[in-house]
Amino acid sequence: MTNQLVAIVACVFEGCKVRMAEERAFVPAVDDIRKAIGRAVTPIDLADHIYCGYHSRLARGTGMRMYGFVGTRRLLEERVADHQKSGSVFAKYSQTKVGMAMAAVKIVNKAETHSKKRRKEADATSCGG
Ligand SMILES: [Zn+2]
Repeated sequence: MTNQLVAIVACVFEGCKVRMAEERAFVPAVDDIRKAIGRAVTPIDLADHIYCGYHSRLARGTGMRMYGFVGTRRLLEERVADHQKSGSVFAKYSQTKVGMAMAAVKIVNKAETHSKKRRKEADATSCGG
């Protein structure tokens, strides 16, 4: 019987070299990670915030909320899937420079179609007149 592959992750605490199965790893509350990195947390971000059992206990002792890594990652993956479904990813884009550029292009396109329409109308009147 072959054992299934177990993903091994390492504690990010400075000087800590503990490696463990991801099922045994902990991460801070997503809200706290977001505050720390200053933007929405993606499942990939979690890798930078993994703690071993010992250091997650220490963190809890300082009042930090620590959660299972696997469960938190699943939560974030579901959140990403939900966002993609609802299109709110694009709503978020509107707050970025790329999003603003995209919105500007849309506005320009609208203005162009409007002026084209008007030009057509003008042509029609000039031809008819
Ligand atoms: Zn550790």
